[in-house]
Amino acid sequence: MQLYQEQNLRIFNSLTGKKEIFKPINEGHIGMYVCGPTVYSNVHLGNCRTFMSFDMIFRYLRHLGYKVRYVRNITDAGHLVDDADEGEDKIAKKARLEKIEPMEVVQRYTVDFHHILDQFNFLPPSIEPTATGHIIEQLGIIDKILEKGYAYEVNGSVYFDVGKFNKEHEYGKLSGRKLEDMIANTRELTAQGEKKAPQDFALWKKAEPQHIMCWPSPWGDGFPGWHLECTTMSTKYLGETFDIHGGGMDLKFPHHECEIAQAEASNGQSPVNYWMHANMLTMNGRKMAKSTGNNILPGEILSGENDILSKPFTASVIRFFMMQAHYTSILDLSNDALLASEKGYHRLMDAIGNLKDLQTTEVSDFNIPEWRQKCYDAMNDDFNTPILIAHLFEGVKHINLIKEGKEKITVSDKALLQQTINDFVFNVLGLEQKTEGNQDSNKLQGVVELLIQLRNEARSNRDFATSDKIRDRLSAMGIQLKDGKDGTTFSLS
Ligand code: AMP
Ligand code: ZN
Repeated sequence: MQLYQEQNLRIFNSLTGKKEIFKPINEGHIGMYVCGPTVYSNVHLGNCRTFMSFDMIFRYLRHLGYKVRYVRNITDAGHLVDDADEGEDKIAKKARLEKIEPMEVVQRYTVDFHHILDQFNFLPPSIEPTATGHIIEQLGIIDKILEKGYAYEVNGSVYFDVGKFNKEHEYGKLSGRKLEDMIANTRELTAQGEKKAPQDFALWKKAEPQHIMCWPSPWGDGFPGWHLECTTMSTKYLGETFDIHGGGMDLKFPHHECEIAQAEASNGQSPVNYWMHANMLTMNGRKMAKSTGNNILPGEILSGENDILSKPFTASVIRFFMMQAHYTSILDLSNDALLASEKGYHRLMDAIGNLKDLQTTEVSDFNIPEWRQKCYDAMNDDFNTPILIAHLFEGVKHINLIKEGKEKITVSDKALLQQTINDFVFNVLGLEQKTEGNQDSNKLQGVVELLIQLRNEARSNRDFATSDKIRDRLSAMGIQLKDGKDGTTFSLS
């Protein structure tokens, strides 16, 4: 019996605007696709929030016993500076400005992205495909859409015919827009260029002579449109209809709307059963964004090198701060909010630290099974992490009362309490019980001093093989020993 058979998970489906009982297509298995980053600059904390929301969702689905295939792509081509199919490719532009290869840009920021996710204790996705690795498949989907008559070619580019699609399907159903209103709003504003209508979007763009990131196609050299890669990679790895598709709220339109149109046009069926959208991180009440400069990088928070916050904060504190808001709510970053989260995080970790030493008795004053189920109920209600955290603090209150001898707990309840904390705090929320940086360096100092002492003993026993080994191994780790007249000291390189 798996946990998902006992727990009734409900998910807010952006497509229907309702919370629905979650039922995967294949029992026990889930296919989940989340739009990944465009790797032309460092991810800011806002991007991290969306990915962290889906990391928590991935973690809970796995905890329930589902086998999840989680696909999160890397956009390394096709995302233009202007969402309306105009302007330069974001990556090519960066490459031009820095006078480096586009793939150097991609490599640099993909490495940075992974490094940040590691620091924040993310689980890796099952597959992390790239747009440039799936050009052939993207060409295949364009062919299918052309064949079905929902696209047209003009001067080496191929555009999706939104008007034609809307006659037989419903363009705008995810974002709640009507094509007629979109047409009325854009008639005077948008230059449509070679498209038949401004709402049409590029499946393939002809490359201008100076465009370096391009591939051969039946319509000449060019590159794929941004929306196409996600349709291609999600359906390739998860099937023509799969369970969950996620991304930030700002991707609902046009990106996800266009994904639905492409998939329905090529396969004749709706691609996704549950659309999930994570809300934005704001700073000073404004959306955190690369383009406006209203953003902070994760590294700037961890190091404290920024003009916005009064001190550095650890990755777990930032994660805890994020988890204190529901993923569909806007969350505003401020110094006070982070300080409050830091306090809460330490209160939680202190209680967890005391847990193993709690004395047990014959009776319990706190109903642990009921409390454990409340934690599940919170998560089953569309991954409600703030309510879960409120229940965890209920647990903290009881741990403290038991420690002070004001309440009692049995051996089996203590084990269940420990298990629940492990499940929800560490596995589901992904928090880590890390010591502060200065405690870590105290420990490092103690260990190195011990090794210096052992080396001195080896030298006085004329065991130079051991003493040299200690010095060389430390040196290889970047810890240099220096022998002086007052003894041996060390430095970090
Ligand atoms: P991008 O690299 O711009 O394609 O964005 C990657 C992901 O970050 C997308 O899912 C966006 O919706 C999301 N995102 C961008 N800005 C924010 C923000 N301020 N808060 C939360 N998510 C964001
Ligand atoms: Zn996408």
